[in-house]
This record gives sequence, structure tokens and C-alpha cells, in this order.
Amino acid sequence: MSERTSTVKKCVAGAAAAGLLLSLLLPRLLRGGGEIQAASVPRTSAGVVALTFDDGPRRKTTQPLLDGLAQRGIPATFFLIGLKIPGNEDLVRRMEAEGHQVGIHAQNHNMLVSPETVGTEVIPLRNTLAGLLGHSDFMVRPPYGKTTQEVRARLGAPVILWSVDPEDWSDTDTRRQVTHIVSRVKDGDIILLHDVYPSSVETALQAVDLLRKRGFYFVTVEELFALRGVEPQEGEIYRCLPMQLSTSAVRNCCAVGRQVVPHRWATRFRSQRQQT
Ligand SMILES: [Zn+2]
Repeated sequence: MSERTSTVKKCVAGAAAAGLLLSLLLPRLLRGGGEIQAASVPRTSAGVVALTFDDGPRRKTTQPLLDGLAQRGIPATFFLIGLKIPGNEDLVRRMEAEGHQVGIHAQNHNMLVSPETVGTEVIPLRNTLAGLLGHSDFMVRPPYGKTTQEVRARLGAPVILWSVDPEDWSDTDTRRQVTHIVSRVKDGDIILLHDVYPSSVETALQAVDLLRKRGFYFVTVEELFALRGVEPQEGEIYRCLPMQLSTSAVRNCCAVGRQVVPHRWATRFRSQRQQT
């Protein structure tokens, strides 16, 4: 059995126990406008974090990253560049098929700093992804994290930035990058990496292994919102979603139309626990 098949089977098995797990694992979940009663993440958890990757897909690096994440049962969020998708459509489909979240970075990696750039950088990529994946509710991470209020008003999606940045583009020093991440990461953080460098793939997998040992659980960004009971708002900026949300942190967030399927993250915790 391939690693991928094994992971998928584990998820299917986990889904059967999802109802029970939900009540054990989820803090507050807003679902269809109503609130589902739930307790907390596993008591042994050090926190829940989202691993995110920008600038892909790049076959040489994204593929081994997806393999490594599948082996570990770890979900991530990928903010893609549109011009890199032709020839890599299978990788984009694989991301969603394996439970990762796909988001919009930019069509050509130009900054989203004028209203016109929404038409040239966001909409074409949203259309491409909609054609490939059958939905169009993709969160947006603007290149360099830069946007304007005018742009955000036209995005039709939440803006997802980050709270932990090892600047993996600045060198190939995996040891430095891993140390940066594991020494800073805390509950609710969104970690920024780029799946276009071999060193970043190595950093991601080493950091995952270390953080799992320390009791952290991994979720996609949309799962992190749902776990925290925060409805993402279009045009709002989000950098992290800690358990203790301040009013300003909540105000600083965004909306996505697609419902997050509850069993997805319940299964996450189950499969990640089985790995340790
Ligand atoms: Zn970028």
C-alpha cells in the first residue's frame, strides 16, 4: 500500500469516529450560523498551528513536500502563483485531494497595490483554480503581504498573512530556519515558508517532526478559523488565531463561503496522534 493510500484509509477510518471526536476536540465551532458545543483541543496539545507555503507549485520541490506531509499525515495551506500552474495541474488537484487547502498568491507575483491588480493578479488565478477544483472560495495571501484598503475591498476573500517567518528565501541554512520556527511558534500561529526551495522542504519536515514531539497539532488555515470559532471576513487581514482572541484580533479577520467539513480536522488530530 502506498503512503498516500495508507493516509487516505486512515482518514476514512477516522471519519467514522468523527462525531465523538468532535465533542472532544473542538473548542467552539460556528457551523451554518449556529454554534456547536465542544470542549477543547486534546489536553496534551501544546497548540494548533497552520503551516503555509507560498510561490508554488514547483514540481521539483512541491512534490517531495507533499510526499513528506502525506507520510506524516500533516495538512498545509498552499498559496499558489498562477503562472506556475500550467503543467502542474496534477499537483494542485493532489493538494486538495490529500486534504490541504489551496489559496491565491498572485497570477504573476506582482504586488496587489492598486484596484486594477485584482483584475490582473487575483481573478485570472481564481478562475484557473475554480476550473481545476470546482469551487472559487479561495483565501488570498498577497505577495510580500502588501495590500491597500481599496484592493481588500475588491478581493472578495480574507487576507491571510503570517505570524512566524523564518525568511527561508534568504539562505539555505535549514538548521537556522528550523530553530527560528520551533523557538517561536505558539498556539494559533501561521507559519510562512516557500515550497520552491529544497532547503525549505527540509525545514518544513524537520520542524513538523520537532513540533509534533512537543505536542503541536497541524491544521489548514480554514480549519484554524473554524476551530477558533471565527468566521473569516472578506477583505480583513489575519496573521494568527490564538485561543485567546482579542477584540481587535477578531476584527482583523475574513470570510470564506465554503463550509469547512467538521470531520476533516477531527480526523487530523486522530491521524496525527497515531503518528506519535
Ligand atoms: Zn511570494
